[in-house]
Amino acid sequence: MPFRQFVLKVNSRCNLSCTYCYVYHLADQSWRQQPVTMSRQVVAATATRIAAHAARHQLTQVEVILHGGEPLLAGAAFLDHVARKVRSEVGPDTAVELTVQTNGTLLTPDFLDLCVDLGMKVGVSVDGGSSDNDRRRVRHDGGGSHARIEAGLALLTSERFRPLLAGLLCVVDLDSDPITVYENLLAWRPPTMDFLLPHGNWTSRPPGREENETSTPYSDWLGALFERWYTAPEHETDIRLFLEIIVLLLGGESRLETIGLSPSSVLVVETDGTIEQVDALKSAYAGAAATGLTVLRNEFDDAFGHPGILARQIGAEALGAECLGCPVHRVCGGGYYPHRYRAGSGFQNRSVYCPDLFSLITQIQRRIQHDINGVRRST
Ligand code: SF4
Repeated sequence: MPFRQFVLKVNSRCNLSCTYCYVYHLADQSWRQQPVTMSRQVVAATATRIAAHAARHQLTQVEVILHGGEPLLAGAAFLDHVARKVRSEVGPDTAVELTVQTNGTLLTPDFLDLCVDLGMKVGVSVDGGSSDNDRRRVRHDGGGSHARIEAGLALLTSERFRPLLAGLLCVVDLDSDPITVYENLLAWRPPTMDFLLPHGNWTSRPPGREENETSTPYSDWLGALFERWYTAPEHETDIRLFLEIIVLLLGGESRLETIGLSPSSVLVVETDGTIEQVDALKSAYAGAAATGLTVLRNEFDDAFGHPGILARQIGAEALGAECLGCPVHRVCGGGYYPHRYRAGSGFQNRSVYCPDLFSLITQIQRRIQHDINGVRRST
């Protein structure tokens, strides 16, 4: 399975210090050794490797995500250089879809003009309205970030720049009300929203995910949101997690790494050029995302033999016995790979979110089945 999505860590630092951030506040602290900004040498090597990979596997399209830290700290001129370098190396036979994933606090008209020129989409991370967002998405001095994000989103959703908005990304907080969060985000009229579970695992549990498996707080939160979204009188926005679960329930394949058994096609390039697996693995233990490879010496094909990459490309074969015996394992896929980690036994476990995933998937399954039965009765 070739890699199709390349996450480029163009800047390894951030102007925010979100309390749940896997880069700065969880097990792996390797950001401290990383150069602040990707060098032009690493940019050139990365662009060459992407071009070679696309040519070798005859890819008609690749996705390049400029990420961080906060990528805008690298400066608009540098991001322009990265985008143009990748496009020029890859050439006309492969479309390069560019996205910048930002915390939204540094958006300016000049930068968004550049995004228009480059055809680069903008994804923004925001956790709801000010009271919910500012509980965890904080600045280094502890102050809230919402006022700056709001200003950025107001600019991005103005008539000139609205087509650039890729979507909003929100991390679930059990202390927030899901409907309030959703409706606050919906006010920006994004084409899509992603709701992410906070990273954690069996050794370092996510907040509120207790050992008592009869409680399903994350399913309760997401289930209420699903009902609000699904029963809206008109389609308001896409919520990718729910759409992917529905597609999987109807026999399709997932396009998300966080759910289902589709092979992972994501690689990360750090500011020093090291090639890493999906960076959420940093939440498991120090070095969990490492591959030992670098764009300065290796092709992306060299990552195919890495055990961690293999495990995320072989579908059900990578699941443990508990998941294989589970009636929803084809939809759930054992949950997101980093959430399966347990010190001592690695990743061949069910997700630490297992009770929530089972509950949410079966809730959506019942709802879809009910509606399909209704359509059948009426035809
Ligand atoms: S619901 Fe639990 S047991 Fe079933 S596939 Fe998901 S993680 Fe595995």
